[in-house]
Amino acid sequence: MPSSPTPQELLYEGKAKRVYRTADPQVYLCQYKDDATAFNAAKRGSIAGKGEVNCTVSSHLFTYLAQQGIRNHFLAQISPTEMRVKAVTILPIEVVIRNRAAGSLCKRLGLERGLPIEPPLLEFYYKNDALGDPLITHDHIRLLKLATPEQVHQMGSLALKINQLLRTFFRSCRLELIDFKLEFGLDPAGEILLVDEISPDTCRLWDLAGENTSEPRVLDKDLFRFDLGNAVAGYQEVLQRVVQQVE
Ligand code: UDP
Repeated sequence: MPSSPTPQELLYEGKAKRVYRTADPQVYLCQYKDDATAFNAAKRGSIAGKGEVNCTVSSHLFTYLAQQGIRNHFLAQISPTEMRVKAVTILPIEVVIRNRAAGSLCKRLGLERGLPIEPPLLEFYYKNDALGDPLITHDHIRLLKLATPEQVHQMGSLALKINQLLRTFFRSCRLELIDFKLEFGLDPAGEILLVDEISPDTCRLWDLAGENTSEPRVLDKDLFRFDLGNAVAGYQEVLQRVVQQVE
């Protein structure tokens, strides 16, 4: 692994990551933490080894997506829990894609958990903790000046393309991608770039081995959110399957 640049000023500390400036103004350092929160931080805890799982899984997925032509902020993984990324301005929008009904969609629309969604559903949420990250429309994005209509269109089509690529990748790991959240940023030239992380914190992943059973075998943050089982073991299993797939 490349050597670690000395972290400088702490730019941001979130629920799951710290981001530092480095000596190079075009490079940030992301440190992934074991801390876990759910329900807008109403539930707090920790999942041992989560930082390493999320950093390593994200590194592999960003590398795979770059190989498939999806520009992203990943530069290099420099330790089990740290990666160097391109310095970008993050847009305050969460882009969610759903292939089956789960989580907030079931609550909002009364759909049965696991209902297949074809074609996949695309949603935008306003990244704002104080407001609880509300679902927003294209017109809300325009009203709040969060992004231009062209940027919204670009994020939507990139997210759908990324969904196809990730579904294929996870299927080869015997995992089904139920839904996931992406974030995008703008590079210094104003170009849209995929950022943040892609991990069991941000994706719902069900074991394909159990696809014919009535209850899905969950291998993601829902283990922590709803006390469904051993989250530490679930995260490690995702890591093992992803690492074995790319070896
Ligand atoms: N998600 C995320 N961060 C958030 C909200 C959602 O990574 O702040 C992910 C979540 O893990 C799931 C998908 O986005 O894979 C859809 O989440 P949902 O809207 O169902 O919300 P939740 O049930 O997680 O509250």
